[in-house]
Amino acid sequence: MTELSRRGLIAATAGSALLGASARAQEAAGPAPVRGADGAPILGPRNPAREAQDPFTVRPPATDHGTMPNLKWSFADSHMRLEEGGWARQTTIRELPVSKAMAGVNMRLKAGVVREMHWHKEAEWSYMLQGRARITAVDAQGRTFADDVGPGDLWYFPSGIPHSIQALESDGVDGCEFLLVFDDGAFSEDSTFLLTDWLAHTPKDILAKNFGLPESAFANIPKEELYIFPAPMPGPLAGDRMGGAGPIPERFSHRMLAQEPIRTRGGTVRITDSTIFPASKTIAAALVELEPGAMRELHWHPNGDEWQFYIAGEGRITVFGSESKARTFDYRAGDVGYVPFAMGHYIENIGTETLTFLEMFRTPTYADISLRQWLALTPHALVQAHTKLDRAAIDGLSQGKSPVVQG
Ligand code: MN
Ligand code: MN
Repeated sequence: MTELSRRGLIAATAGSALLGASARAQEAAGPAPVRGADGAPILGPRNPAREAQDPFTVRPPATDHGTMPNLKWSFADSHMRLEEGGWARQTTIRELPVSKAMAGVNMRLKAGVVREMHWHKEAEWSYMLQGRARITAVDAQGRTFADDVGPGDLWYFPSGIPHSIQALESDGVDGCEFLLVFDDGAFSEDSTFLLTDWLAHTPKDILAKNFGLPESAFANIPKEELYIFPAPMPGPLAGDRMGGAGPIPERFSHRMLAQEPIRTRGGTVRITDSTIFPASKTIAAALVELEPGAMRELHWHPNGDEWQFYIAGEGRITVFGSESKARTFDYRAGDVGYVPFAMGHYIENIGTETLTFLEMFRTPTYADISLRQWLALTPHALVQAHTKLDRAAIDGLSQGKSPVVQG
């Protein structure tokens, strides 16, 4: 901007109700840290792209206060581990220090590409974002599991259970992409127990003795882990259903999108926990869709931290942390949000498209407490003494639960 046009802009906006002239001019470059008489324009270096994504961090509402831990991480800021035919990136306690209870991995595999046979200490919950994959597992009783999963399907592998994931081809989608959530924030995708890694670090005579084969049979085992690698496309699913001691009784997959959602004016919620997906003993989840302007109502969870993943749209939440602490965060597709145990919050769709996100909890069953329901079901004179609301307004509060409220 030339000095002349800058002065022109300042003159044109002089006397603007909320923003000072220089702040108004700065709005063109992004949100300014000016709120009424408080704040001042940024003079130093700026990162306009970042600031535009976090307007309520740059200019918090007056209700925000105190020091809250950071509750936002974007997978866009996570290291990409690139392998032949795919990639993985993770959001763990190392990226988002508050996330002690859970960690997440975003993984992409082209058709035929395998996330190699492995196991880990943590339980693994997954949501298929795009495309299809074949998953397999074997349990301690020699029972087997194999299924093909597509968009909106879940899987859950308990702690220590060995499994594999291989991308398929479907409807022109080359492979798949999915979100993994682990029930420990310290999880690392780089620290799982890999079949090829173990074989490469076991003496060949021991391998020979173990499998009853000559040592020469192991001449071609990989010298280091494969992790993500291309393999021949699998045949029909029926052919990959190994017998063993029979099928694993609690299926490791679940069709979350096939669940009839809770529908309210403004959006839908699907809740999947161990009451309908019995295998998923340590992770409960909710898939929420909010129309523009709609809001996941003020609530908290009485049983654990919330790990969020934003699939589409733009959302805003304010987290209340007691001791007058509150902070507002903006999220968009690909971001991870985190709400520590018991902290109050809402989630508002501030964009023009449907806001879709997942909430995960390290609990067997989903639970939330609705602020509105709490007030509606507490003696109204007592509520009035606290809130100074009109008695009629309190009497009119719905006693039912409506997780989503209209815009
Ligand atoms: Mn795994
Ligand atoms: Mn919540």
